[in-house]
Amino acid sequence: MHPTDYYRLPWTLNDNVLSWLEPTKKCNIYCDGCYSTNEANSHKTLDQVRCDLDVFTRQRRVDSMSIAGGEPLVHPEIVEIVRMIRHEYGLKPVINTNGHAMTRPLLRELKAAGLHGLTFHVDSSQRRPGQPRRTNLELNDLRLEFARMVADEGGLSCSFNSTVFRDTMHEVPEMVRWAQKHIDIVHSMVFILFRTARTQEFDYYAGGTPVGMDALPYWDQEKNPTPLTTPELFSLIREHEPDFEAAAYLGGTKDPNSFKWTLVARVGEPEHVYGYVGPRFMELVQTGHHALAGRYLAYSHPDLLHHGRATLGLFSAVDKGMRKGLGNWLGAVARHPARALTKLHMQTFAFIQPIDHGADGEANMCDGCPDMTVHDGKLVWSCRLDELKRHGTLLHCVPKGAAA
Ligand code: SF4
Repeated sequence: MHPTDYYRLPWTLNDNVLSWLEPTKKCNIYCDGCYSTNEANSHKTLDQVRCDLDVFTRQRRVDSMSIAGGEPLVHPEIVEIVRMIRHEYGLKPVINTNGHAMTRPLLRELKAAGLHGLTFHVDSSQRRPGQPRRTNLELNDLRLEFARMVADEGGLSCSFNSTVFRDTMHEVPEMVRWAQKHIDIVHSMVFILFRTARTQEFDYYAGGTPVGMDALPYWDQEKNPTPLTTPELFSLIREHEPDFEAAAYLGGTKDPNSFKWTLVARVGEPEHVYGYVGPRFMELVQTGHHALAGRYLAYSHPDLLHHGRATLGLFSAVDKGMRKGLGNWLGAVARHPARALTKLHMQTFAFIQPIDHGADGEANMCDGCPDMTVHDGKLVWSCRLDELKRHGTLLHCVPKGAAA
């Protein structure tokens, strides 16, 4: 994979697709490596949520608001929060949930309040009350249960995210295949590569004070000596699906050629994928949406995603990936004419590669971070909120021995 083959997403700190609201730190399950502190009584009041939203709107133009946590569904005023985001701030509310507290009546209430979609965090690192640990593949049944619940309600975007560890990465190609089988109701899959502290290479400091990384939730280097990268995961997926291809990426603040966010979009039906969109498609969608709506696009409306044939037809003139997809589909229709009537769907994948460090210890963050949150009235990276909460400052790394 080389960055110049893909569209460099235009997102910046103050003009982006998303922001990350944390209305609570409380959670109802346990996930390995979660940075959240699961504090009892940590629910923000509606006024505190409004203050956070004011900070976002003053400093950042976005399309959608991720409502995360903690587990947002345990917040007693979650429906009001959704309503506030949609109707007072004019943003698309998307709930990031483990799904454990989701019920059909609650989903209906959330939709009526203006919910745009859900991202269910389901993976093998979780301990769900009363349930045994399951592999990612065994958890596909639970994913499908959530996807069907959302599809039955209708008009909502449905995504899944999973943390990927070196010892679970082999399950990813099968998860990609599972997503294809349910391309009509699963709109997006997000793979988040697990983050580890690099204590064999660096000493960590809070200001001038050395800190032990045991106070933070990440595994240490000993347990995860070689962190996963997105290109490595792509190579594995391509062993099973050779055509699997990215269209766009977000580079790093220190290394612009690193793949911090990588986006894939494909068009197909449950039995067959016809093509992967190319960089030009992503560029036209992002810049076109910005020109028309004044903001970059996150989470397309699900109704649009079910017009795969029209998308292939419209964009094949300008996008190589779509042209190939159209050719594949026409070939399939020539062989089996009934296929012309089958609905085609779009489905996206995002791969997120967490913070890493240059040899000098400088952090390489996502350049144009979509997941900025608010802490003490300021925008901060949500992946480093725990450092601010526990140490009052961001930690910095110094190569081993360099401080002596
Ligand atoms: S910088 Fe951190 S919070 Fe922002 S998108 Fe990257 S991993 Fe997420």
